[in-house]
Amino acid sequence: MIRKSALVVFSGGQDSTTCLFWAKKHFEKVVALSFRYGQRHEQEVELARSIARDAEVEFHVLDVPLVGQLGANSLTDKTMHLDEVKPEGTFPNTFVPGRNLFFMSIAAVFAREHGIFDLVTGVSQTDYSGYPDCRDAFIKSLNVTLDLAMDEQFVIHTPLMWLDKAQTWALADSLGVLDLVRTRTLTCYNGVPGDGCGHCPACTLRRRGLETYLKEKRAAE
Ligand code: ZN
Repeated sequence: MIRKSALVVFSGGQDSTTCLFWAKKHFEKVVALSFRYGQRHEQEVELARSIARDAEVEFHVLDVPLVGQLGANSLTDKTMHLDEVKPEGTFPNTFVPGRNLFFMSIAAVFAREHGIFDLVTGVSQTDYSGYPDCRDAFIKSLNVTLDLAMDEQFVIHTPLMWLDKAQTWALADSLGVLDLVRTRTLTCYNGVPGDGCGHCPACTLRRRGLETYLKEKRAAE
């Protein structure tokens, strides 16, 4: 069934870009929403804008610097060194506390103003890197909270929730956008688009997934 409209929380990274094209397949109209929250690499907003433009998706960006300022984290504080390895028993310092809580809540209010009640986010529990607000229980709980907060019936779609990175590449390929995702998205913590810097945790996860997927694909041919 094709539903009418969806809003994609869109950062221009691998996951949300795959979700953007997933949404285009499942909804008649797709709106993309990006956030400027003081992230180290603000170019990601411009990359997101250009991907949305080429995908013929309506694009919006909201400035929410407060989200990056509230809790200490290395994605917005350029004086902090990025954790390359997940520390034992706690989050990596790339965790922006409350980010998905704020982003999804703001996205829901924004969507409602546009008459949209289907929200799409690229969070994944499989590869959640220790971020608690990427987990399924959080998203389900927030969905209930948003419904209660606005007396509406939102549906938060999480197409990547149970996929690992290799399966996310497979999904991008099945949507016909493997090359686009590979060359135009920014996942790298060091701000290098496409295949990235090659050594930060985000690049490592992304590359391992791609290698696994391409190997499986070749074996199946
Ligand atoms: Zn990198």
